[in-house]
Amino acid sequence: MALIVQKFGGTSVANPEKIKAVADRVMAVQRQGNRMVVVLSAMAGETNRFVDLAGQMQKLPDPREMDVLLASGEQVTVALCAMAIKEVGSDAVSLLGDQVKIRTDTSHTRARIENIDTELINKYLDEGKIVVVAGFQGVTGRNDITTLGRGGSDTTAVALAAALKADKCEIFTDVEGVYTTDPNIHPSARKIDRISYDEMLELASLGAKVLDIRSVGFAKRYNVPVHVRSSFTDTEGTWVVEEEEEMESMLVSGVTYNKNEARITIAKVPDTPGIASKIFSPISDAEIIVDMIIQNTRAGALTDMTFTVPRTEYDRAMQVVEKIATEVGAERVDGSREIAKVSVVGVGMRNHSGIATTIFQVLAREGINISMISTSEIKVSCVIDEKYTELAVRALHDAFALDKENVTEISHD
Ligand code: ASP
Ligand code: MG
Repeated sequence: MALIVQKFGGTSVANPEKIKAVADRVMAVQRQGNRMVVVLSAMAGETNRFVDLAGQMQKLPDPREMDVLLASGEQVTVALCAMAIKEVGSDAVSLLGDQVKIRTDTSHTRARIENIDTELINKYLDEGKIVVVAGFQGVTGRNDITTLGRGGSDTTAVALAAALKADKCEIFTDVEGVYTTDPNIHPSARKIDRISYDEMLELASLGAKVLDIRSVGFAKRYNVPVHVRSSFTDTEGTWVVEEEEEMESMLVSGVTYNKNEARITIAKVPDTPGIASKIFSPISDAEIIVDMIIQNTRAGALTDMTFTVPRTEYDRAMQVVEKIATEVGAERVDGSREIAKVSVVGVGMRNHSGIATTIFQVLAREGINISMISTSEIKVSCVIDEKYTELAVRALHDAFALDKENVTEISHD
């Protein structure tokens, strides 16, 4: 008998009819001889409605009370789903995070799961019940209700699957899986059948739309096979699994982009020991997260320092940087919000050279200037002008023939 965790997102439980459809779907899998744990989100739009209501009570809502409120959306769907299952003669029980004892730390509205007690769930599974667990919530050691951050139900599902040693965790959503790139940008984007945890983490901006990226970290750590699929069809979606040998024969698995960063350059900084620390310490003290950093040497004892920060922090970062620039005697500071980071991801890069070269050739052919480059073992990212994002993504997707299933050949002509 297999143990399966199935999670359904807000659009899959958006109304009573859809909740009944979820109940049918879960019961059908149980009838095939499986033990079933179901994790649900709140009905689509509910959590946003609560955030809005809270804002009408308190300008900065109290985090503890916020969590009591936010957790209520999932309480509704799990109870309704258990009722729907019982109505058609199967047995089910709904459980909230604190009933299961999904223990978290005390960071309200963005808590981390520390421990999950499996006793109660196993007891109900032994009784033949379908166990319906509220996603997105937990409880602290002091019995305060917490939530895991927006989109957190995926993490509940994967963490439960890990704790229960489930055979698989299925995430049902409103798209068919993870694609080689954003299908809205390139119509020939193809659904990926199998992808490794590491690639999925690198494809964060593609994945984030279908799978909360924090859940992938959990899946990787506990080696939980995750199946991302549509709740409206029976087609296979995308399996996110431990790396397999065949994956390396695909040079590239996806092209992704990110428009959430901004660039800052400090020009003509005196090139002396300790300069990087002088520049970046105040930025990290301001709790601004720096992503890419490039330092290039100029003739003489001067250097330029360019880096990226979250776009939402651009103004704050500029203020900090302008102050530092004066202190260290840099010539000037400039920056831009209108940048995009385009990334090509694939575990095949580990064993094949020439992928970066192909990327640079493709962008050059399209007349797109690269302002920063960074690489990891399985990723090459280029910062470009934001207005060329779509063009770059399409050209790279075509160059690596990602619309086709077969192994990519690189040509250097
Ligand atoms: N209901 C929560 C949210 O909207 C959690 C989730 O759906 O995963 O963020
Ligand atoms: Mg979600």
